Amino acid sequence: KVKGDGKNGFQFFTPAMNACYQERITLENELRQAIENQEFELYYQPKISLSAGRIVGMEALIRWRHPVHGLLNPDGFIDLAQESGLIGSITDWVLGEACGQLSRWHSMGFGDLCVSVNVSPQEFDAPSLVERVASHMNRHGISPDTLEIEITENLLLPDVSGVIEKMRLLRAHGVRISIDDFGTRYSSLNYLRRFPINVIKIDQSFVHDLAPGQPVSPIIHAVIGIARGFGLHLVVEGVETLHQMEVLAELGCDEMQGFLFGRPLPAFEAEERLLAPVCYPSPSH
Ligand code: C2E
Ligand code: MG
Ligand code: MG
Ligand code: MG
Repeated sequence: KVKGDGKNGFQFFTPAMNACYQERITLENELRQAIENQEFELYYQPKISLSAGRIVGMEALIRWRHPVHGLLNPDGFIDLAQESGLIGSITDWVLGEACGQLSRWHSMGFGDLCVSVNVSPQEFDAPSLVERVASHMNRHGISPDTLEIEITENLLLPDVSGVIEKMRLLRAHGVRISIDDFGTRYSSLNYLRRFPINVIKIDQSFVHDLAPGQPVSPIIHAVIGIARGFGLHLVVEGVETLHQMEVLAELGCDEMQGFLFGRPLPAFEAEERLLAPVCYPSPSH
């Protein structure tokens, strides 16, 4: 039976809550093990430029090759990683791995390829973030403007001046800043003027609604206008159909990402896509 009114934070666990708690503890221990045993992998999803007709970037997306449950998506463990304080080690692994891969691709001749990494707001807030990013970049000799950090809009709400300062420092190290899932959170548009941002990514939910015979969401029009007005790069994520691509191209969007062009792939398969003759959208999708 649940007791307590919540005011003093005192509650007994019900059996169901207890099972859930046990599961969480198990997962947390497994996550800790996963860092030691190097069970994480980075998958890479291409970003293409319609005008260039080629891949211009890759987004690094973490996967956990769980010894029992198989390949897990980040939605299944990133929240827990944050709550349990394990996100720091994971972010370090992601940054090191992504920089290593980027440097490899640069040395193969893809000199202007950009790799982006997702950083959770909590990790962005960590005092050491700038130094850690810079040290990974230095170790792998990453050239300026080829590493991008994707952060979500809710980061922009608290402690505005601290965030601006940190972005400036990252920019000074040649890191590009991208606002992920743009349009999904309530936040003031005013920050676009104040923050040293390079890229905004229209959230895929707006793109999903783009179906034949349906009017284009006013949000898509608005975001395109915002990007133009502020001189920001615009990436559309979640493009799945030719129809969506054509409508967005007609509206002037150039950089796109989505299953139409390619799913997230292990590094060696992503590399095959880089080396393949240009053909977009890919005939295999
Ligand atoms: P995100 O950064 O917004 O990434 C886009 C997500 O949408 C990815 O899911 C991707 O696989 C999926 N996606 C891409 N194109 C399409 C499409 O055309 N249709 C549909 N339906 N989905 C598409 P994924 O890989 O499961 O990642 C989920 C989220 O987890 C990411 O959202 C990001 O916020 C977070 N994440 C991923 N990797 C990391 C990481 O290394 N660190 C942190 N802190 N978060 C990460
Ligand atoms: Mg992202
Ligand atoms: Mg996104
Ligand atoms: Mg997302």
